Amino acid sequence: MDPIELAAYLASAGPICDRCLGRRFAGLGSGLGNAERGRSLRAAAGVPTSPESKCWVCDGVFARVAEWAEEAAELVADREFATFLFGVHLSPRQEAVEEFLDERFPSPWSEPFKRDVNRELGKAFERTLAEQGRAATVDFARPDVQFTVDLETGGIALTVAPVFFYGRYRKLVRGIPQTHWPCRSCRGRGCASCGGTGKLYPTSVEELVLPAFLSATGGTGGHLHGAGREDIDARMLGRGRPFVVEVKEPRVRTIDLEAVAREVNGAAAGRVEVLDLRPGAPDLVAQVKEEHADKRYRARVELGEPVTEEALARALEALVGEIEQRTPVRVRHRRADLVRRRRVLEASGRLLSPTEAEVEVLCQGGLYMKELISGDEGATQPNLASLLGVPAKVVELDVLNVLDGS
Ligand SMILES: [Zn+2]
Ligand SMILES: [Zn+2]
Repeated sequence: MDPIELAAYLASAGPICDRCLGRRFAGLGSGLGNAERGRSLRAAAGVPTSPESKCWVCDGVFARVAEWAEEAAELVADREFATFLFGVHLSPRQEAVEEFLDERFPSPWSEPFKRDVNRELGKAFERTLAEQGRAATVDFARPDVQFTVDLETGGIALTVAPVFFYGRYRKLVRGIPQTHWPCRSCRGRGCASCGGTGKLYPTSVEELVLPAFLSATGGTGGHLHGAGREDIDARMLGRGRPFVVEVKEPRVRTIDLEAVAREVNGAAAGRVEVLDLRPGAPDLVAQVKEEHADKRYRARVELGEPVTEEALARALEALVGEIEQRTPVRVRHRRADLVRRRRVLEASGRLLSPTEAEVEVLCQGGLYMKELISGDEGATQPNLASLLGVPAKVVELDVLNVLDGS
């Protein structure tokens, strides 16, 4: 059907406004808005004008756009954002009207009602911001703030995207987990055995790092995502371990990261230190979590029987190469039980006494160090204990460096 004929046919169904008429022909010609396009089609088809308030298609929704835009601007009055997006929920009636139009007046040039409303909301929002001396641009993929207008109730809801920061942490003392562990007896509610804290350990790297980020951003909560984790009783030294902090519902997205680092390092008082803080994107979480960087460890090892320096040196030499490691007994209840192949790249050490050694190992990420030393009931092969022919056990462990190249 010819567009003008179709326009006349559509207008015969009931009073329709210029915008709703024009929207059915949105794909025709560029540079025109739907309302202008509708006006010229109406003139060409000789159809009388009809006001928006009488339009059976939009039912006057577009007249409320400016109001919603102002409400949206108010919702984010005290929030920093650079990008936004609008979305709408149609009422059941509007859904039915759309379906009816597509069935009865099919047009190859039509654009969805939703998209028209979203675009008008976005334009009105940009105008409102400009009046207030603010600016933001629409972002379909990853907006800082997202508004959802419910066309049935007239309500508007705000969703604020989290903000991400990259950094590295050093853990200078033992006994601090990376993230908090709920108490085993009460599962976090608080009981006598945890002194009412609900926690298994008094603090964690996350709990020492997060507060400064929350106060700087005004966020409501957050997480520390580490690039792997060291054992609770192991220190994390050298250049530290990469992490990403995710802050939920931030009011401020651009923060003084040097001040945050000073605050964390001051409050954590020699227990934890952060460095290399910088802004990050959401992809960073997956990136950091999937990274399997080489690691350098230092372990103090207790030996079941006296050994000689020569025997230790030979055993360490034999440890270099491929290791087959089944998931350690101690973590098998929460990690998949499988056999990993990882390489020990370097191993060296010295005796502190005939039954105590200090060893340094450089290995691929994902190798469990304590089990490399003890053998874990044979689940790690080869291992230092079997190569030495005496029981061996890590009593102190430090990650000297995470060699991720950044
Ligand atoms: Zn209309
Ligand atoms: Zn408890």
